[in-house]
Amino acid sequence: MSTPSSEKRLAFVLDIDGCLSKEGLPIAGSKDALKRLQLSGIPFVFCTNGGGQLESERSRKMSSSFGLKLVADQVVLSHTPLRDLVPRLGGSRVLIVGENCGSVARSYGFAKAEDVREYGSRHPSLFPRRRTAAPDEAEDGCANDDADDPVRAVLFFEDPEDLGEALQLVLDVLLTQGNPDGLRVLADDPTAVQEVEVWFSNRDLVYAGLARHPRLTQGSYRLCLETLLASAAGGRELEATTVGKPSRQTGEAVLARLLLQAPDGTKAEHFEIWAVGDNPLSDVALAKTMGWKSALVRTGIWDGNSEPKVKPTLCVDSFSTLINDFLSHPKDNE
Ligand SMILES: [Mg+2]
Repeated sequence: MSTPSSEKRLAFVLDIDGCLSKEGLPIAGSKDALKRLQLSGIPFVFCTNGGGQLESERSRKMSSSFGLKLVADQVVLSHTPLRDLVPRLGGSRVLIVGENCGSVARSYGFAKAEDVREYGSRHPSLFPRRRTAAPDEAEDGCANDDADDPVRAVLFFEDPEDLGEALQLVLDVLLTQGNPDGLRVLADDPTAVQEVEVWFSNRDLVYAGLARHPRLTQGSYRLCLETLLASAAGGRELEATTVGKPSRQTGEAVLARLLLQAPDGTKAEHFEIWAVGDNPLSDVALAKTMGWKSALVRTGIWDGNSEPKVKPTLCVDSFSTLINDFLSHPKDNE
């Protein structure tokens, strides 16, 4: 283990699920370790591939779970980097995937954002199982034609509330270049270029929950969408960008928030940053992307024994053992 040389300022990037807590319940020892870290004055930011709420709401929940006072700028959620799209897409129609995430997106500044449920209620014929209107009313396509104002982007903020509904509507929007009442251009014309941008916010296939085995998350749903698009449009590949760990966009969002906690004039190179988490492919890989150090914990998705797919700086039993080592023996670690 090493600690920063005298001119470097230690900082931590902390994964939440499988590292500090499981489905909101703190892992043994993590509450005290987090308190010690905060008392030490070392900057830290939570970085999770979870989302579905505003950063301010997540920081309030974390404050309550861990008995600490945390602020919104200490939280980077899966979709936090999508805030950067607001200057370009804030005035365009965008379709948001994730339960109640339409309101989160509108709070970000995507003024015309609608989540899948909201979009579906304006286009009741698209997903018949959800339809509540009378058939003649529901089939009145003209009222719902978005030809003059098509969807410009699909933003995955979170796992879909209803996978079937989300896949159907996103596929409709993609194939028709943003207007499901129009033609399926991508299926009909192999030379057509996909016009609707697609942004995912989490490439993870699974996460560690309370169940015995890993739970599916956004990366798994992306595979479904890719398969369906290829099947509907002659093998066409989905054009999409993914933020969230381990992307550079997420690393930059974390760095900006760490700098907010440091004295004026502090620069990125003044930090020795440690990413701590349970997933080699997101937490350790983020550290690799950004040139940070990393500690892989045994309390989550990694089985604790097999060779990690991305090699961390350290393997530790838990977040609390790591913090206790750092704060108890700082001089031993040079
Ligand atoms: Mg995790």
